[in-house]
Amino acid sequence: MKIVMLGAPGAGKGTQAQMICEKYGIPHVSTGDIFRENIRNNTELGQQVKSYLNEGKLVPDELTVRILLDRVAKEDCANGYVLDGFPRTIPQAEVLTQKLEEMNDKIDFAIDVEVPDENIIRRMSGRRSCPKCGATYHVTYIPPKQDGICDECGSALVQRDDDKEETVKERLNVYHKQTQPLIEYYGNAGVLKTVDGTKDMKEVFEDITALLEE
Ligand code: ADP
Ligand code: AMP
Repeated sequence: MKIVMLGAPGAGKGTQAQMICEKYGIPHVSTGDIFRENIRNNTELGQQVKSYLNEGKLVPDELTVRILLDRVAKEDCANGYVLDGFPRTIPQAEVLTQKLEEMNDKIDFAIDVEVPDENIIRRMSGRRSCPKCGATYHVTYIPPKQDGICDECGSALVQRDDDKEETVKERLNVYHKQTQPLIEYYGNAGVLKTVDGTKDMKEVFEDITALLEE
């Protein structure tokens, strides 16, 4: 099963992707996580992409597509994957569709997690994530059992540099201009499923699994 998560930054794509991956035993592929890990480790890729992330801009398509295709070519992706944060532009989606077509394959579902902009800033300002295992929390809505500590692996949680209010606004602008058109793109491909992302995270997950299994 190959799934694409769509939705604004902060809509809950990563949160849902993690639960889908656990249930179906497929990997969670987040281009944002790959970029952040490279920035933390100060790799050449990290140095190339750092300013884009800090400014809330998109990393150029060519570079992003290369990183993504390398990742999904790995053996653990052979039985499917959940893409979280990719594609983010029509050209990225077109390359993905074409590469899959060359292998007689396709995206099975594109899940659009709908959350209005007014809820997004509150979600992002309270977001905390685990730099080690990638688990995501919210200080109010989805708090860890122990303040500031990851339930899964015990590491100290961090706030993302790009979750500052000003960067969030820029990321929302970029989303509306460049990423939202993908809803129509996957609608035309006949694979779009839409869920109300303002519900409690467990309810959103139930809605998603019902759609995947209908
Ligand atoms: P995205 O991957 O779309 O950027 P995240 O999954 O990181 O979004 O979620 C953004 C923030 O909102 C996180 O702090 C997360 O814990 C919180 N969150 C996710 N889903 C919900 C939900 N259904 N209700 C309330 N808060 C949520
Ligand atoms: P995310 O973790 O998905 O919110 O992504 C964080 C940041 O990484 C984005 O604001 C972009 O700067 C960059 N990024 C992640 N995925 C992509 C992508 N598919 N195309 C371009 N830039 C991306």
